[in-house]
Amino acid sequence: MTDRDDAPVVGIDLGTTNSLVAHWVDGAPQIVRDAGGHPVHVPSAVSYLPDGTYVVGQAAVERAAMAPAETVLSVKRLMGQGLADLRPEVRGHFACELVEVDRQRVDVKVGEATYSPQEVSAQILGELKRRTEAVLGPVQDAVITVPAYFDDSQRQATRTAGKLAGWNVLRIINEPTAASLAYGLGDKHTDGVIAVYDLGGGTFDLSLLRVQAGTFRVLATCGDTFLGGDDVDRLLVDVALKSLAEKGLPTADPRLKARLRAAAERAKIALSTEATTVMRLREPTLGVNLELELSRADLHTLMDPLLERTLELCQQALTTAELTVEQVDELVLVGGSTRTPYVHERVGAFFGRAPHVGLDPDQVVAQGAAAQAGILAGHTSDLLLLDVIPLSLGIETYGGGVTKLIMANSAIPTQTTEEYSTPKDNVTAIDLHVLQGERELVADCRSLARFKLRIPPMPAGMPQVEVTFLVDADGILHVSALEKRSGAEASIEVTPVHGLTEEEIDTIMADSITHALEDVRVHQLIDLRNESATVIRATQRTLKAEGAKLTPEQRTAITEAAATLEALCKHEDNQAIKAALEELNKQAEPLAELVLNRVAQDSLSGKRLDEIEVS
Ligand code: AMP
Repeated sequence: MTDRDDAPVVGIDLGTTNSLVAHWVDGAPQIVRDAGGHPVHVPSAVSYLPDGTYVVGQAAVERAAMAPAETVLSVKRLMGQGLADLRPEVRGHFACELVEVDRQRVDVKVGEATYSPQEVSAQILGELKRRTEAVLGPVQDAVITVPAYFDDSQRQATRTAGKLAGWNVLRIINEPTAASLAYGLGDKHTDGVIAVYDLGGGTFDLSLLRVQAGTFRVLATCGDTFLGGDDVDRLLVDVALKSLAEKGLPTADPRLKARLRAAAERAKIALSTEATTVMRLREPTLGVNLELELSRADLHTLMDPLLERTLELCQQALTTAELTVEQVDELVLVGGSTRTPYVHERVGAFFGRAPHVGLDPDQVVAQGAAAQAGILAGHTSDLLLLDVIPLSLGIETYGGGVTKLIMANSAIPTQTTEEYSTPKDNVTAIDLHVLQGERELVADCRSLARFKLRIPPMPAGMPQVEVTFLVDADGILHVSALEKRSGAEASIEVTPVHGLTEEEIDTIMADSITHALEDVRVHQLIDLRNESATVIRATQRTLKAEGAKLTPEQRTAITEAAATLEALCKHEDNQAIKAALEELNKQAEPLAELVLNRVAQDSLSGKRLDEIEVS
């Protein structure tokens, strides 16, 4: 192992409900802890306040109950998705308004403002950065994890969010790959199949990975985006409600359900270490005094159907990967719900092996990401890691078919070249349509990009068009086309398929650099308003003094530009104010020139400014 550089590098587990940071220190990944020794852990929630500011993390979760429509929870479910991609239960999950921007982007609307999922994620990632920097000092480099099933647009959306928050995103890697790395599975000597069973609060994922000479390949993923520990809590609440009803106690108050949910979670967690517990709730205002005895056996009976469902999904993944359970060499458990010993038992029994459980299941993904960051930053050469692309990439061929150039699960970086010709005479432009997906027809795949290659007219079959697909280490696709006879070339980088244009990214970047995006925006607004007021005042003064020398059209243009700017300054659209300020400066140029000429004339006795030679 070599320590080349002391600059901290971190790994970020950007979770659906919680996010966590780990760093590479003394040759190992460790969770970043604050001065009190608590992990830097931020609930993935943002709440927008009426004054235009926002709060992130626990404060946002607490605000969710009173201001659900102003609070965004689980934004990860929206990343890189169009409205059509969202299942009804995902849509139903959002209490704030969702607006479709394009096929690959749904924004959240709070009051008059809209926020892209990338911006909301950036606000979470920005909070993680602030809290990490409070402990470690300035940090730039980060590896961020995503679920193995995330497609190209979801990965790119995550990368953009990292960039917006001021991180230098070294790499986007798969969560199960990170969890495996945290357990040291994946060094150059490991060879075999790893099953990563991830049961969190609201989601379940099973990934089967093949690790070979430091390369991770996703063989299959299966999951349920609405299955997890929260369901166990709900079942316990039902038991408690039944017991209350049997005693003739009231059960209808919605506040009661929320209190019971918390009591249920406490009881469930207690049963991870105790054989029995009592689920208690004393709520005199609601007329409730609950004392429900629960044993591990009770919990197991409740959990059985949920665990059966996860095991069915495990079997499904094995079938997809054409593997038998005996071919699985390692089992890794991830997610808070795998702390229940019964989960170890059932999952271990299914796979016929003891799971890796030495690390905190909530922290393994962040730790693995930090290990990968350590590798990329050159802090260690013990591990080598390559990831794979999740979906096949190809181009449209005549008749609406898709030819795949790079197959799903190819290790990245990877490159393929294929040669094509034209079936018609005198074609002068070849349309290249880049697609992603496993299906054969264009209509069933996701369109990533289109571009044109212009070539000189030739008879059918003569052009020799070489198309190259290169997927770089981040999973970003670069496509180029070369007609070999004429040397005509065209190429594109397939960005931003998540629906944010480069321009929008730049605009957001300008508004929101490293730290609190909103702070920067508000500061910029104040600066812009001040500058605008100064320019308006100066222009009006000069117009009064020198305006007679301008044409009536020039005077009107200046007056109108000043009025527009003044009106816009009453609102909070920084970009619009900036544009109006530029417009006023432009319209006032003849006026400024007049002033300069007069000043120059005054001091140079009659010489015009544009005649003065500047040496
Ligand atoms: P995650 O989404 O990975 O943070 O997992 C959160 C879920 O883990 C929630 O449903 C928690 O109730 C559950 N959880 C946390 N700690 C424990 C524990 N000690 N035993 C059982 N479940 C737990």
